[in-house]
Amino acid sequence: MSLSRARERDDHQVTIVLASNNRGKVEELARLLPDWVRVLTAAEAGVQLPEETGTTFAENALLKARAAAAQSGHIALADDSGLEVDALGGEPGVRSARYAGEPTDDAANNALLLERLHGVPAERRSARFRSAVAVVLPDGREHVAEGTIEGTILEEPRGSGGFGYDPLFLPAGSTRTMAELTVDEKNELSHRGRAFRAAATWLLPILEGQRHAAS
Ligand code: IMP
Repeated sequence: MSLSRARERDDHQVTIVLASNNRGKVEELARLLPDWVRVLTAAEAGVQLPEETGTTFAENALLKARAAAAQSGHIALADDSGLEVDALGGEPGVRSARYAGEPTDDAANNALLLERLHGVPAERRSARFRSAVAVVLPDGREHVAEGTIEGTILEEPRGSGGFGYDPLFLPAGSTRTMAELTVDEKNELSHRGRAFRAAATWLLPILEGQRHAAS
C-alpha cells in the first residue's frame, strides 16, 4: 500500500490532486471542500503536466486531469481558463496565456489586447472569462464543470490585485475591475470560482463514499 493510501486509512483523509502548480488555485479549491480532503499540487503528487494542445478549455482541462489521475492513482481535477473578447471573434481564448508570445507575459498580453481593440467603442468591448474544471476518477469516470463571468474591456488598466487580464476587465454591474476586488470577492464572482464550486458539488458525494469505504 502506498504511503498516502495508508495515511488515508489511518485518519480518514481522502487525497485528490489538482493538476496545477499554482498554490493559490489549490487553496481556493481546498477551501470549498471538507477538511478531511487533502489537495496536492501536481508537483507534490509527482505528476508531469502534459502540453495543452486542446482547442477548447474543456479539452485542455481534461488532458491535464486525465494525466494526473493516471500518474497518481488519485481523483484528479484540472482547470483551464481564459478570456474571450467578442469584437476579436473570441480571441485570445485558449491562447490567453501566450497571446503576445512565450514565455507568458501579462503586461505584454494586456498591451496587445488594447492595441487590437484600439478605436473599438465601449458598447462593443464585451468579453467574458471562461473556465472549465475537469474531474477525472481513477475508474475512468469524468465530469466537466464550467463557469463564466461577463464584462467589458476598459481602455486603460486599473488596480493591482489578481493577475493576467484582471486590470482591464470590468465585471458587468461592477464599478471595480477584477484587479480592484479582494481575493475573496474575486473568488465569489470569478469564472474559476463558479466552475470550482460546481465541480466540488459534483465530487463531494464521491469523496464521502471513498472516505466511508476506507474506514
Ligand atoms: P489558466 O488556465 O488559469 O492558467 O489561465 C490562462 C490564462 O488566461 C492566464 O495566463 C491569463 O492570461 C488568463 N486568465 C485566466 N483566468 C484569469 C483571471 O482570473 N484573471 C485574469 N486573467 C485570467
